[in-house]
Amino acid sequence: MSSANNLSPVAPVANPTIPFWRKEPHELDNIRTTPELPEQSDIVIIGGGYAGVSIAYHLVTSQQSESQPPPSITLLEARQICSGATGRNGGHLRPDVYETVALCLERHGIEAAIELARFEVSHIPAVKAAIAKEKIDCDFNLTRCMNVYLNEEHAERARQAYEVLRDQGASYVDDIHYTSQKNAEGVSGVQDAKACLSYTAGNLWAYKLVMGLLSRVVKSSSVNVQTMTPVTSVTSDSPHHLVQTPRGTIRASKVVYATNAYTAGLLPEYSKNIVPCKGICCHITTPENKTPPFLPYTYVVWNKEGDGDSYLISRPDGSIIVGGAQYSYAQQKDIWHNNVDDSTLIEPAKHYYDTYMQRTFRGWEDSEVKVQEIWSGIMGYSYDTHPQVGEVPGKPGQFICAGFNGHGMPVVFLSGKGIAEMIRDSKKFEEVGLPRIYKTTLARLEAAQTGPEGGDTFDL
Ligand SMILES: Cc1cc2nc3c(=O)[nH]c(=O)nc-3n(C[C@H](O)[C@H](O)[C@H](O)COP(=O)(O)OP(=O)(O)OC[C@H]3O[C@@H](n4cnc5c(N)ncnc54)[C@H](O)[C@@H]3O)c2cc1C
Repeated sequence: MSSANNLSPVAPVANPTIPFWRKEPHELDNIRTTPELPEQSDIVIIGGGYAGVSIAYHLVTSQQSESQPPPSITLLEARQICSGATGRNGGHLRPDVYETVALCLERHGIEAAIELARFEVSHIPAVKAAIAKEKIDCDFNLTRCMNVYLNEEHAERARQAYEVLRDQGASYVDDIHYTSQKNAEGVSGVQDAKACLSYTAGNLWAYKLVMGLLSRVVKSSSVNVQTMTPVTSVTSDSPHHLVQTPRGTIRASKVVYATNAYTAGLLPEYSKNIVPCKGICCHITTPENKTPPFLPYTYVVWNKEGDGDSYLISRPDGSIIVGGAQYSYAQQKDIWHNNVDDSTLIEPAKHYYDTYMQRTFRGWEDSEVKVQEIWSGIMGYSYDTHPQVGEVPGKPGQFICAGFNGHGMPVVFLSGKGIAEMIRDSKKFEEVGLPRIYKTTLARLEAAQTGPEGGDTFDL
């Protein structure tokens, strides 16, 4: 494994596995707007995934004052655009109105929980509207997610948690539908299901979404995008920041870290809060002479032991994207935890999905489907489950939008909007409509430094 910047161990590696989504690179995949880096830029965004591109998109598309010129923006990406988690994910746009919200309710109370649920839910219309506005062809589909439980005790705990949320009277809970064991298999299509919960969700080709947004961004003459340009450090030359790369240094007024799993490589104070964790995902196809059975929903299928899940979407051509299975290798921490190597697969999990559809779904037993492509990707597990968004404590003019805990699709787009408003309009965190629990604070940094190893991270 060699790192793309050869300096920090917490940095993207040079030769990642190739996901299905990136088999045909977009024309902007390795864009360099100019042959050389600019020497100065009002804003430097580090990271060219969903977060970095969303921030740039909202910076260039939001209402600007007529009297002021737009700020100059430079986006730096260590590898190709969207070559990190976003280009390797499961394509599941699933507002987590249930697990994380129930946890948030327990820890922070009802107001914070409702705020979180509403924020995630609002991503569906927001992403749908952006896709329509920018005419992005990314196979977006609006459907329902089936959360399916194969373990009876787990199903019972899910029912109780659902009822606690329902009894709070929050309107978003109206969209959740609980089905008990009697009808769970018939409703979900999952063999031996003990219960299921469904709610509105979407699925899409995230690489194409990000490339579509970037196509709009690069129409602005104030934007310079530079791929294959790893940032090696950011130092302060008050009131400016010096962003160092092997290709030169950029002097910036404001810097944004949209570096998700790799954040600790540049901001070591986040090393306990955002831990790079490796996951796998695959693409399952049907033999050419067969028609794939129809799957109308997206899924999160919890295992029989009740201690882990797989997330799954079906594509318009009937093929399947499925990933997760962390429970099959979780004990071997050295192969996935604090690991940035997406150039290899996860050995104990690489055959897990070979017959997954046949052994999980009703009607798929004789489908003869098989894994066509399998790849790995690096998530930014968050110590306290939630992302870190806002101005970096003790570093004025430096912002973070990272730590999406393997669950970024219904979180990142509007976090990027919030950060864009903070940067461009000098708004406070509290003024940009972000859930309060996302705010990056010294207290959250200290809690991770002093709390138990590993915190309460979990895979969604
Ligand atoms: C296998 C897998 C499956 C997933 N499935 C889902 C799913 O179905 N639904 C869902 O909601 N979420 C899913 N996720 C999580 C989701 O993909 C992420 O939360 C989201 O993509 C994060 O976006 P990002 O832009 O913050 O991170 P990334 O896409 O990782 O982008 C960060 C970028 O920063 C660049 N970078 C890092 N350090 C530097 C540096 N020093 N200099 C320059 N550039 C740098 C990286 O190269 C990278 O391109 C999955 C993740 C994985 C890995």
